[in-house]
Amino acid sequence: MAKKNSKDKGWFEPVQTLKGMHDILPQDSALWDFFSDKIRKFATAYGFGRIETPVLEEARLISRGVGEGTDIVDKEMYVFEDRGEERVCLRPEYTASLARSYIQQGMLNLPQPVKLYSIGPVFRHDNPQAGRFRQFYQFEFDAFGDRHPVVDAQLIILACKFFSELAVPVTVSINSIGDANCRPQYLANLVEYLKTKKSSLCDVSKERVAKNPFRVLDCKEEKCQSAIGEAPQIVDWLCTECREHFVKVLEFLDELEVPYVLNSRLVRGLDYYTRTTFEFVSADSDIDPLALGGGGRFDGLVEMLGGRPTPAVGFACGVERILAKVKARGDVLVPSSAPSVFIAQIGSESRKAALRMFDELRRAGIAIAENFSKDGLGPQLETAGRLKVRFTLILGQKELLDRTVIIRDMESGVQEIVDAAKVVGEMKKRIEKSNQQVYSINGKQNLEGTSQDEIKPQNSLF
Ligand code: AMP
Repeated sequence: MAKKNSKDKGWFEPVQTLKGMHDILPQDSALWDFFSDKIRKFATAYGFGRIETPVLEEARLISRGVGEGTDIVDKEMYVFEDRGEERVCLRPEYTASLARSYIQQGMLNLPQPVKLYSIGPVFRHDNPQAGRFRQFYQFEFDAFGDRHPVVDAQLIILACKFFSELAVPVTVSINSIGDANCRPQYLANLVEYLKTKKSSLCDVSKERVAKNPFRVLDCKEEKCQSAIGEAPQIVDWLCTECREHFVKVLEFLDELEVPYVLNSRLVRGLDYYTRTTFEFVSADSDIDPLALGGGGRFDGLVEMLGGRPTPAVGFACGVERILAKVKARGDVLVPSSAPSVFIAQIGSESRKAALRMFDELRRAGIAIAENFSKDGLGPQLETAGRLKVRFTLILGQKELLDRTVIIRDMESGVQEIVDAAKVVGEMKKRIEKSNQQVYSINGKQNLEGTSQDEIKPQNSLF
C-alpha cells in the first residue's frame, strides 16, 4: 500500500522501488554491458537476429499461449485495463511474444528456421526472495520453423558454451514430454495413478491432479515425494516419433560431449511445450541449486496463437541469477568504462578551452571525468583522486597562453608539460601503456592494470 506523507513532521516519506524490483546502478552497469555484449556475440556467431517486442501485450496472448491453469497466468501476471479499456499485461516471459511477432510479421515467408533472440525485462508478481524478483531480465533464444532434433541440441549446446565461457558451472537436465499423439494417454494414466495417491499429496498437488496433472511431478513438497517417485514416467509412453526425436537430441549432445542428466520429472509446467524440455541448474554445491535457465520445444504454440503449424524450440535464462554467480566468483574481468583521465581547469578562459579539449578526447574514445563547475584546483584534484583516475590534465592561464597542458600522473604525482595540440595522442599512448582503462574486476576499476595476456584461460571471458 502507498505510504502517506507525514503532514505533522513536514517531510515526505521517500518513495522506494516496488517490492521485488531493483535499480541497476552505474557501478554494476559495466558488468551488465559486458554480459549483454557477450550475448550479442554468441547470437551473431550462431546466426540469431535480435528482436525486441513491446513490454505490454494483450493479456489473451499470454493466457492462450502460456495457458490458463499455469502459475504464470493464474497467479503471477501483471494484468490490467489500460485507458482504452483493453486488457493488457506486462510480459511475464518472451516466448509467446516472439511467436506472436513471427505470425504478425509474416516470418513464415523467410528462410526457415528463423532464429531470434531477445534480452530485456519481464514481470511476474511472485513472492520476492533471494534470486526471485518481480521485475527481472531474461535473455531468450528461439528457432522457429524447424522440427529437426539437431536444432534442440544446438540451442542446448549454445547455452552450455555460454555458461562455460562465464565459468558458471551448470547441470543440464533433460526430458521429453511427448506430443499431442502420445501425451494424452500418458496423462490419463498419470491421473489414474495420482487419484489412488491423493491422501499422500499436498493440497496444491491435489488441486493440480485435475487442473494440470503434469505439475504434480515438479512439486517440491516433502509429502508428495514418494508418490511422485513411483509415478509412471512419460519416457515409457512416448510414441515412436517422439522417442526417436529424443534419442537424436541426446546423440547430438553426446557427440559434442555435453553432459546431461535425464530427469523424467522435468515438465516445465507451461502448456506450449512438446517433446524436449531442458533446464540449466547451477552446479555450485555450496548453495541451493537454482535454475539459471530453461526451455524446450514448443511445436504447437504458433498454431495455438492463430498461425500456421510451425515447429519451434528455444530457451530463456535469468540475467540477475547468472550475474549473481559471476559476481560471487569475484575475479571476473570486465571491460571498464570508468574514466582514466580527469580534466581540471583554473580560470574562466581555461574552462572554455577545457570544454573543447574534453570534446577532442571524447571523440578519440578516451573516457574522461571533469568537474567544470569548480574553480579551485584543490577541489578538482580531490574529485580526481576520489574517482581514482590515473591522469589529470591541468589547464591554467599560463598553459593557455603557452598552448600547453600539464599531465599529472596521479599515482606518482609527477607532472609534465606537453604541447596542447599533441595531448590526444599523448594520452592515448599513456593509457595504452598503463592498460588501466581496459579492465575492471566485477565492474570495480582495476587500478593495478591488467593486460589480456594475464587472464588465466579458465577465467577469460573474451
Ligand atoms: P522460466 O521460464 O520460468 O523457467 O524462467 C527462465 C529463467 O528465468 C529461470 O531459469 C530463472 O533463471 C529466471 N527467473 C524465473 N523467474 C524469476 C524470478 N522471479 N526472478 C529472477 N529470475 C527468474
